Amino acid sequence: MPLQVITVPCLSDNYAFILHETESGQTAVVDVPEAKPILAALADLGWSLDHILITHHHDDHIMGLEEVRAATGASVHGGAPDAYRIPPLDTQLSDGDTFQLGGETCRVIDVSGHTLGHIAFIFDEALAAFTADSLMAWGCGRVFEGTMDMQWATMQKFQDLPRAMTIYSGHEYTTSNGKFAMTIEPDNESYQKRMAETEEARAKGEPTVPSNLGLELATNPFLRANHPKLKAAIGMEDATDADVFAEIRTRKDNF
Ligand code: ZN
Ligand code: FE
Repeated sequence: MPLQVITVPCLSDNYAFILHETESGQTAVVDVPEAKPILAALADLGWSLDHILITHHHDDHIMGLEEVRAATGASVHGGAPDAYRIPPLDTQLSDGDTFQLGGETCRVIDVSGHTLGHIAFIFDEALAAFTADSLMAWGCGRVFEGTMDMQWATMQKFQDLPRAMTIYSGHEYTTSNGKFAMTIEPDNESYQKRMAETEEARAKGEPTVPSNLGLELATNPFLRANHPKLKAAIGMEDATDADVFAEIRTRKDNF
């Protein structure tokens, strides 16, 4: 496998991911919630960090940035719309941009909604998507800066990715996301199975991130707002997909 990904738990419930392209030895980290665990993981692995990739401006994704940059000399890449509000970027990325991590091509997509200018990093060949707070395991981020329509457009971008895509999201929120999801489609057996698996993993102290798109399409109500079964389950058979999404997101805000 030419792209190796290491999950690094940070702070109380954040994840950073260290990416290593095995042929070139190029190494990157996606998000920097805190420096210590990331630097410790790099030392353990014996990898030197070349690139820091930032998904969005929230503190819990960038707090370790200056320390990791100073310790490693890595170059920093983030979304152009965030450039004014995060530490200095070496490269400003926009929707549709691509760059190489050794032999692996990464595609940048705009996934605004949670914030304006949130980006996700998609490795099409390696089937890896780094989605932070846009698409989360069994959930999606709260819509702070964008509009509900914008976040629904983002969810549709994820629907179009291959089902086998691994989804590396930014937080361990899966248990609480699942408890909410169960209120939307309580009779859905895929939800029940995922809840049992989630509880088992958490009881053992194991992360539930990453997940994969196939599982999210089957169980994540925010990705299923266009699904007739979900619409029927909440009595919104005749509503538009975007209105159903907005209703689910609003219910989650008040959950
Ligand atoms: Zn965030
Ligand atoms: Fe976050």
